[in-house]
Amino acid sequence: MEKPRFKDTGKGIYYFLDCVLVECPRCHRCAKIIGNPRKTHPKLVCEMCGLTRSKQSVSIGSEKYGEFILWLTTDCCGNTLWAYNKEHLDFLESYVSASLREHIPNINNNSLASRLPSWIKSAKNRESILKCILKLRQQLNFK
Ligand SMILES: [Zn+2]
Repeated sequence: MEKPRFKDTGKGIYYFLDCVLVECPRCHRCAKIIGNPRKTHPKLVCEMCGLTRSKQSVSIGSEKYGEFILWLTTDCCGNTLWAYNKEHLDFLESYVSASLREHIPNINNNSLASRLPSWIKSAKNRESILKCILKLRQQLNFK
């Protein structure tokens, strides 16, 4: 059987920012921030309570998205595991579960895979991280 492989094709963090799941600041249920900040002004839309809010910009690269708390966060291995949406979760799962990781050289030194923190890259954390990813997947069903 072939070993699970992960191929780093150079996807950067912006690849996952078309639609980000966050906690609605009004009703505390799952809202979306639609619009990739590289191309447009992102907009918060909550289908649960009807709140909408336009943003000039949002800061990225942590468990918060601008001032919003990401919907998909959980404590994991003494750190916080977070994801922007289902696609980001799929990406993390394929990275963590792969025993073979390939990096295509010269594509993108800024790829998300090359910038993941070392605790996510560590093989000893693999099982715990996969459990946390499963937990976050269940979180996708609570809205
Ligand atoms: Zn709401």
